[in-house]
This record gives sequence, C-alpha cells and structure tokens, in this order.
Amino acid sequence: MALIVQKYGGTSMGSPERIKNVAKRVARWQSQGHQIVVVVSAMSGETNRLIGLAREVQAVPDPRELDVMVSTGEQVTIALLAMALKGIGVDAKSYTGAQVKILTDSSHTKARILDIEERNMRADLDAGKVIIVAGFQGVDEHGAITTLGRGGSDTTGVALAAALNADECQIYTDVDGVYTTDPRIVPEARKLDRITFEEMLEMASLGSKVLQIRSVEFAGKYKVKLRVLSSFEEEGKETNGTLITLEEDSTMEQPIISGIAFNRDEAKLTVLGVPDKPGIAYQILGPISEANIDVDMIIQNVGHDGTTDFSFTVNRGDYERAKKILEESVKQHVGARSIIGDEKICKVSAVGVGMRSHPGVASQMFRTLAEEGINIQMISTSEIKISVVVDEKYLELAVRVLHRAFGLDQ
Ligand code: ASP
Ligand code: MG
Repeated sequence: MALIVQKYGGTSMGSPERIKNVAKRVARWQSQGHQIVVVVSAMSGETNRLIGLAREVQAVPDPRELDVMVSTGEQVTIALLAMALKGIGVDAKSYTGAQVKILTDSSHTKARILDIEERNMRADLDAGKVIIVAGFQGVDEHGAITTLGRGGSDTTGVALAAALNADECQIYTDVDGVYTTDPRIVPEARKLDRITFEEMLEMASLGSKVLQIRSVEFAGKYKVKLRVLSSFEEEGKETNGTLITLEEDSTMEQPIISGIAFNRDEAKLTVLGVPDKPGIAYQILGPISEANIDVDMIIQNVGHDGTTDFSFTVNRGDYERAKKILEESVKQHVGARSIIGDEKICKVSAVGVGMRSHPGVASQMFRTLAEEGINIQMISTSEIKISVVVDEKYLELAVRVLHRAFGLDQ
C-alpha cells in the first residue's frame, strides 16, 4: 500500500463529465489498495473569470479580498469531486486549505506555505476515505484566507506530499509528460521517461509551462518523487508519464542534452557608448531592479576609447517601462551615445546535466545555428544550460535544427 498525492489541473476539472472521469481514476487507484490524497485546481478559466470580476469593481483589487474571492474556484471543485466519488460509492471528504490548516505567511496573492497540519487528514485516510484538498489556498495565523500565486495548486500538491511523506506526487495535466521540446514546433519531439529536478527547473524557467517553477523547487528540496501524467488517457492505456528524479538516483546513462527550451517573451535594450568606468553596471541596472523588473541576460563589451556598449534583456511586458527608466538614468547620471531597443528577439536554450561532463556542447550549438545563417545576439550559460538570443523570426528554425543536432529526434 502506498500513499499517493494526485493533483488535477483546471482542464482535468473543466466540466462535470471530466470531474466524473477524475473520480473514476481516483477510485481505480484506491481499489488497488492505495491511500489517496487529491489536490484540485478550479475549473479552467474560473480563476481568470473571478479576477476579471474583481477588477470591474476595483481597478487594483484589494489583495485580502481578492484571496477571499479567487479561493472559491477550488472550493467548488473539491465539493464536486467529493460528490462524484460518493456517487460511485467511494467514501471521500473535501477540505479547504483552512480546514486542513495549510498555514501560510500573510502575503496575499503570493503567500508561502509555513506548515501543514496532517492530523485530520491522517485520521480520515486511516478510516479509508479519499481526501480532496483545495489547491492554491491556505490560511494565515490570523485566519485570513491566502493564495499561493497563479498555478499554485502544483505547489499545494507537492507540499502535501512532503508533509505526509507520500510515496509519490502525481501531477495530472492535459499533456502526457515532459517533452524534449514543444511538439507544436517539432513534431518529432519525444516524451521523456525521466528528467532531473535541475533540468526541469531550467526548462520551467525557460518557458516550458508543464509545472509551476516553485513546485519543482519544493519537490527538489524535500525530495518528493514527482511525476507528470495525462488525465485524458483511457483506462488500460495509461502511460507512466515523466518522472522527475534526483540526479544521483538516475541509474541510466543520461543523454547529454535532455531538451530544447525557448521563450518568445523577451526584449533587449542596449546602451551604446557608455563611459567605461567602475559603477556603470550598477548605475544602469540599479534603477531597473528597483522598479522590480527582472533582468535576464547581460552583456558588456570590451571597452575602446574609454567607452563601451552594454546590453541586457527583460520580459517583453516590462520593455516599455524599462526603456523609460533607462532613458532617465542615462540622461541624469550615466551618459551615453544612444539607447537602442529590440522587441523582436527570443531565447533558445539547450538543457542537460550531461553537459557537465561533455565539453563541446556550446560549439556544436553555435555551429548548428551558423549553418542555418542564424545570427547569435547574446549568449549565456550555466552548468547545465546554454542560452542564445536570436531574432524572433528564427525561433522555429533554431529549435528544430538544435533538436535534430543533439539527437533528440530519434
Ligand atoms: N486556480 C489557480 C490558477 O488558475 C491555481 C491553479 O490552477 O494551480 O492559477
Ligand atoms: Mg494549473
């Protein structure tokens, strides 16, 4: 007998029919003798609908009241799933975050989990009940409802698995696992049987949207065995999805590159002819970070004649704001010849823990892009990834040729 936490996302809970299908799946697992804790999201679109409603009433909704409101999406689905289970003869009980007592801090709309009480859940599990917990929500020390940030049900699932010391945390979604790249761009993309936490983190932060980044961090930290699976596979035709493993646990020979990730959501700013002297990077980027804008890649060129060029990338949504701030600080303190911006760029990355022990990955990547005449505008690397910024119009081509060059097509 195993204790399994299963998390079902908004699409899996999207209609009464689908909720009944989830109930059948849960019942099958339970009938195999396992104890099951289910975490659910709101029905797809519901959280957006609620936020929209709030904005119609208050332009910037009060965070405390917004949490009271958006947490209702999950309160509906826990009850519906419990009913669906009872309807097929399975004893089930729903829990809101407060009823479990998922204790969080008080940062409304982006709260962090501090503690989870397991007592009540344990008693119900031992009595043979399926436990259904509302994802995305908790309660602070004053009893106020909090939420964990968009996509937070993944984190609820992993946190419950950690607290209950579950044997596995299964994330059911509308894809059947983690792929070597987006199959919409490369039809030859393959589902990975396993991927390490570190690779998954890179893939998630580089634009792959299968799991919320925080849940992957959490799972790595607490060593929760995490698996991504499809909730749409028919009975008897289920696959094992993708297992996210600790590197030291993976017995198989790792491929050098596990996947090609990309992000269209980037924009580049360049300051030309800034004085090449100490403090310049700080003067340029300080005001940007004070405005809470994330800077991703940074390049400073070799100085010549006392000046240099400085480029960095930001989220495309922050581009206009970053540009204004930059123009201000250049005018006031930094001094420069000019500022140029480019919103039509994207980032393409090769990710793989195998890179640590195999030199030459970068040069293979650069050669592959060169052979297609794709100009690389910026490069950044970590131990397990290489990212390049290229013109947006080359995104599909770059992903396709790199996927092939690293042998991911087979
Ligand atoms: N319902 C919440 C959202 O849409 C949480 C989740 O789905 O994970 O962000
Ligand atoms: Mg989700």
